[in-house]
Amino acid sequence: MDTASLSELRHNLRRFVAEKAPREKRRAWDRTHTWPRELFCELADMGLCGLTVSEEYGGLGQDIVAAVVVIEELSRVGAFLSGPYIHCAFYGGMNISENGSDAQKAALLPKLAKGELLFAYGLSEPDVGGDLSAVTTRARLDGDSVVIDGAKRWCTGADFADYIYCLVRSGPAEAKRKNLSFVLIPPTAPGVSLTPIEHINLRYTLSSDVHFENVRIPAANIVGGPEKWNRGWSMLAGRALDVEKIEISAAAFGVAQAAVEDAWAYAQERTQFGKPISGHQAVRHALVDARTKLEACRQMLYHAARLAQDGAPCAVETSMAKLFIGETVAEIAIICQRIVGAYALSDAYDMERHVRDLLGMAIVGGSSNMQRNNIAALLGLAQ
Ligand SMILES: Cc1cc2nc3c(=O)[nH]c(=O)nc-3n(C[C@H](O)[C@H](O)[C@H](O)COP(=O)(O)OP(=O)(O)OC[C@H]3O[C@@H](n4cnc5c(N)ncnc54)[C@H](O)[C@@H]3O)c2cc1C
Repeated sequence: MDTASLSELRHNLRRFVAEKAPREKRRAWDRTHTWPRELFCELADMGLCGLTVSEEYGGLGQDIVAAVVVIEELSRVGAFLSGPYIHCAFYGGMNISENGSDAQKAALLPKLAKGELLFAYGLSEPDVGGDLSAVTTRARLDGDSVVIDGAKRWCTGADFADYIYCLVRSGPAEAKRKNLSFVLIPPTAPGVSLTPIEHINLRYTLSSDVHFENVRIPAANIVGGPEKWNRGWSMLAGRALDVEKIEISAAAFGVAQAAVEDAWAYAQERTQFGKPISGHQAVRHALVDARTKLEACRQMLYHAARLAQDGAPCAVETSMAKLFIGETVAEIAIICQRIVGAYALSDAYDMERHVRDLLGMAIVGGSSNMQRNNIAALLGLAQ
């Protein structure tokens, strides 16, 4: 999209969320771990889920920068719309576009582009966090089927997703990266059960433990088709991962922007010692620091997004963006919380939720230390 179209998209989405996702609704969604499906359908009707899907499959053509703008703007009201958008356009549309077989692309991408399918990510396990090469969920081929046993943890959206995009192991653990595959598992398949995990951040849905007991799916559900059996690691480490680091960073940036704007407005309304607290130099400086950090995040985010959009190598820049933004939005959260004071601790205000969401951003989607390790390795730092 050209600059004028991006501005129009931004403007329309800002108006959309301001009108359709007022504070009382956000608070109710947060309390009940839910998201507004009818509003998501309205966004899908605008074609936005097609921003990661080529025109050949009914999308708008991959436009990572525009998709990042969508996530940023939707995230200003929390993760209630940007979360499901990511489940559709990124976990689904981006991954299948990058890694799907021709048959999977033909069957899934048109529906993903219309917002009719949602994916969940099944990577983490009870004993697997950053070290994904240690995945233990077992999968074996049995004729035209794959049989899965094991457990995933923190599988966000497994309760509403059509498919779990799930990393499984088909042989001995010692092989590490050599016998991993991705499979598409419908959470409704016999043998799949969910146990929700209570958590404080990104409460647009449940995040669950997912148990697989003798779950049988067609071999056609191996991502990339049966010929991509044991080829999962390259899918994990490829362009889809680069874009995933951008997508979570965009969500963090959108929430941080809302936090800064809320603190900025509050500081000019709240009067203490005979003047708005924004008139006290310490508060004034803190607000400017928050805005400056925010601007640095914006530059990191859109630089990485443009590289990904151009198809340029960007593993270093996307890891740097995830690292920098994850860490910086936590600093922004603390600054804004201090400025809003007691009211930042009440759920009558959005700040309380912003802080919960922002403090988690350096952990979810690959922790800061994982990004540091990636960057050091990619830059060939001797160890
Ligand atoms: C709300 C929420 C939603 C989530 N949704 C999903 C989801 O949908 N799908 C999914 O698969 N996962 C999901 N996750 C899991 C998330 O991606 C992981 O929590 C994240 O990858 C970090 O894993 P961990 O917390 O298990 O960290 P661990 O790997 O156990 O690490 C713990 C700490 O040790 C550090 N550490 C570990 N190893 C090293 C090392 N070699 N060098 C330096 N430091 C190290 C880490 O940086 C971290 O600070 C979700 C988590 C939350 C909280």
